[in-house]
Amino acid sequence: MKDCLFCKISNKEIPSEIVYQDEVVTVFKDINPVAPIHLLIIPNRHIVSVQEMESGDEEILGKLFSAAKNAAEASGISDSGYRLIINNGPDANQEIFHIHMHLLGGGRMKHPMG
Ligand code: 5GP
Ligand code: ZN
Repeated sequence: MKDCLFCKISNKEIPSEIVYQDEVVTVFKDINPVAPIHLLIIPNRHIVSVQEMESGDEEILGKLFSAAKNAAEASGISDSGYRLIINNGPDANQEIFHIHMHLLGGGRMKHPMG
């Protein structure tokens, strides 16, 4: 998708700290981390949000979870734990309209959800 920041990151048109990439997903460091480890996991295909997922996207989105698991292991936080967040729409403050999963870890979470 033209003019999508995260499409440009997965296409390497703009720089980011990619920690893992395959033909389906890209995992990279959030530019403004809110935890010692803060990664973003995106499908390479432009899917806007959970609400706009279509039939057939389930397999791609399922791979976000396996990428999160592998990234947590690679980051050394699979035992200490981590939080996965997907913001959807205005009330959740979704800022980038290319679906992404936040992986947060590396320290005890201080604030409750919501
Ligand atoms: P959202 O609020 O949409 O769930 O989260 C968007 C996330 O993307 C934010 O945590 C923000 O810091 C991150 N972000 C925004 N622009 C960039 C960028 O250019 N590069 C990287 N690596 N992360 C970004
Ligand atoms: Zn996109």
